[in-house]
Amino acid sequence: MTFTLAIIGRPNVGKSTLFNRMVGKKLALVHDTPGLTRDWRDADANFFDLKFRVIDTAGLEESFDQTIQGRMRTQTERALMHADMALLVVDGRTGLTPMDRHFADWLRRQKMPVRLVVNKCESEAANAGIYEAFELGFGEPIPVSAEHGDGMHDLYNLLKPLVDAATPPPVALNEAEQEELERALAMYNEGDEKGFGDEEE
Ligand code: GDP
Ligand code: MG
Repeated sequence: MTFTLAIIGRPNVGKSTLFNRMVGKKLALVHDTPGLTRDWRDADANFFDLKFRVIDTAGLEESFDQTIQGRMRTQTERALMHADMALLVVDGRTGLTPMDRHFADWLRRQKMPVRLVVNKCESEAANAGIYEAFELGFGEPIPVSAEHGDGMHDLYNLLKPLVDAATPPPVALNEAEQEELERALAMYNEGDEKGFGDEEE
């Protein structure tokens, strides 16, 4: 089973930007208008050497009444059903909003590991937002800038043990097989140096 990470949070915090960075392609639409992502989408992430599945979740329209919150939750719920872990994203520059707290309260009730990321931390304007994020009760938040690529190493270190634990280890070679492999590699390298392969065909 592939480890699956769901990126969760209110609209406009930068979920799709982070999703694109993890996938290494611009698959999700990034827009200033909250609610551009209408549905959740998933893709294979190649994040440094980590391979996992990542889900970008929707944000919904401008007015955040109960109905909209309900709709967001339904979509997010569906995404979470397919995930092993939730990455809650908040915006460090705006600080916490009631909707961030709403998501946090709701996530706390899910039976799933949750990690917290504070986005838009490329400038000092986000410092207060980082401290405030502790209030959500998910431990130390990871400050990142999805747009600029800051904090990706910390995010990697956060994810690595979880992804590793969910990924079966590669088959270990015994001593004889290891020697065989090294011999084969040595021959291959030697061949390269002698220019073997050039005349073949
Ligand atoms: P989503 O609604 O949570 O998916 O957010 P988007 O990824 O669509 O981003 C919303 C807005 O925030 C866009 O204008 C992005 O360019 C901007 N944004 C995303 N990440 C960052 C960041 O690290 N720093 C800053 N300053 N802006 C960002
Ligand atoms: Mg989005």
